[in-house]
Amino acid sequence: METLKSKISRKIWDMWFSTFKVESVTDDLVVFSVGNLFIKDWISQRYAKQFVETIKEVSGKDIPYQIKDEVVQESEPRQNVPLVRKRPVLLSEFNKEYTFESFVVGPFNEEGYDGAIEIAKNPGKMNPFFLYGGVGLGKTHLLNAIANYVLENSPDLHVMYMTAEKFMNDLIVAIKNGTTIEFRKNIREKLDILMIDDIQILEAKEGIQSELFHTLNHFIDNQRQIVLCSDRTPTQLSKFQPRLVSRLQMGLMVKVDNPDLQTKFEIAKAFALKNGMPLDDESIREIVEASDNIRTIKGIINKIAFKNTKKAVDKSNISKIVREVSGVEIRNFQGKNIVEKEIFFNALAMIFDVSPAEIDAKLRTAKLSNTRQIGMFFARKYLGKTFAEIGEWFGRDHSSVVYACKKVEESVRIGNGMVKKQIIQLQEILKIRKEESAI
Ligand code: ADP
Ligand code: MG
Repeated sequence: METLKSKISRKIWDMWFSTFKVESVTDDLVVFSVGNLFIKDWISQRYAKQFVETIKEVSGKDIPYQIKDEVVQESEPRQNVPLVRKRPVLLSEFNKEYTFESFVVGPFNEEGYDGAIEIAKNPGKMNPFFLYGGVGLGKTHLLNAIANYVLENSPDLHVMYMTAEKFMNDLIVAIKNGTTIEFRKNIREKLDILMIDDIQILEAKEGIQSELFHTLNHFIDNQRQIVLCSDRTPTQLSKFQPRLVSRLQMGLMVKVDNPDLQTKFEIAKAFALKNGMPLDDESIREIVEASDNIRTIKGIINKIAFKNTKKAVDKSNISKIVREVSGVEIRNFQGKNIVEKEIFFNALAMIFDVSPAEIDAKLRTAKLSNTRQIGMFFARKYLGKTFAEIGEWFGRDHSSVVYACKKVEESVRIGNGMVKKQIIQLQEILKIRKEESAI
C-alpha cells in the first residue's frame, strides 16, 4: 500500500484511492478492491503501470492483479423504484445554457467534467458527488449540466437543484410553520437526484448541518444521487460537524481548477464566437490576461457584445472595456467611488450570472429581481448614489428603491452569508476599499 502510495500524487491518492484496499495476495493473484465501478475504471485506466511495478517491487515477482469494485452491485434492486412518469417534471429552474456541450474541458477541470457525466449517466452509484473549487470555475455550470442531461436522457427521473441558501431558508420556514415533515418528504421522498450548491455557507450552522447530514444519509442509503458543491474541500469546511465532513469525503470528491492561459484563450475565443464576435488573437489575449477566472472572461465578452450590438467591434474599445471590467479604470475621487452605470451593471452581471442587458430590461424573474435589489442597496450604501439616481439606473420609482434597500439591509443584518459574499465580491470587482465599507 505504502509503495503504491509513493508512486501516486497526493492529490490523486486522496481523491481516488480513499476506498482502495488490498483484499488478498497469493502467489498467482493479487486482489485489490475499491468503492465502486467508476473508481475502478478510472484508476485501472490510469495507474496500471504503477500497480504492476508495485507488485514486482514488493513481491519480487510479476503476479497478475485484479481490481474488484465493492459496495454497489449493479444487480442490487433499488429500494425505491422511481415513480412512473411520462414527461420530465421540472422541480426547480435550471440554466438551459449550462450543458456538457457548452463546457470547455481541459486538464484543469476534466476530473470534474468526467465525474459529472458519470453521475448524469448513472445517478445513485457514487454518493455523494462532491465538487469543489474557486469562484467562477464552472461548478454551478456542471450541476446544471447534470440536470439538463438527465432531463433529456432520463425524463422519468426527478431532479432538483437548489442553493444551500435555499435549503437553509426553506428549512427555517418549515421549522417556523411546523412543517418540517413536509420539507423532508419533498426532499427525501420525491427525488432521484438532489443537488445542493455552495454548501460552504452552512459553516457554523449546526441545525442546518444536522438536517443536511440526515438528508445525505437518506440519499446514500436509498441509492439516490446527491451532488454537492463548495468553494473548498470538506476538511477545509472548518465549522462543519466532523460526521458531516467524513460523509462528504466518502463518495467521489473532485476539484475544478483554474485553467491555464492556453485554455483560457480557447474559452475566450469560443465565447466570443458564440456571441457573434470573431475577435482577433491579440484582443483575446488581452481579455485573458486581465481575467483570473472564467466568469470574468465571460463578463468581459458579454460587455463587449453589449456595447457593440450590431456594430463592428472597435479594437481600441476592447482595451477600454477590459480595463473597465477588470476594475482598473474606476476612478476614486476624493474618497468617493465614482462608478458609472455600465460598469456597475457589468459587475452585477458577472456576480449574479445574468447579462447587463437583462438587468436593464423590465423582465422580472426571481434571479433578476434579486440582482436588482442587491444592486440598488449597493449603489446606495457604497456608491453614495441618491434614491433618485438609483431609481433612474434601475427604472424604478422612489418607493421601490427604498423598499429594496431596506430588504437587503435586513438580510445582511440577520446574517445572510450569501448576500454578504455577493457584496464583498462587488466591492472587490469595483475596487472599493473595504475598510471604508466593511459590512
Ligand atoms: P462557480 O459555480 O464555480 O463559481 P460557474 O459555474 O457559475 O462557476 O461559472 C461562471 C461562468 O463561467 C458561467 O457563466 C459558466 O458558464 C462559465 N464557465 C465556467 N467554466 C466553464 C467552462 N469550462 N466552459 C464554459 N463555460 C464555463
Ligand atoms: Mg456557483
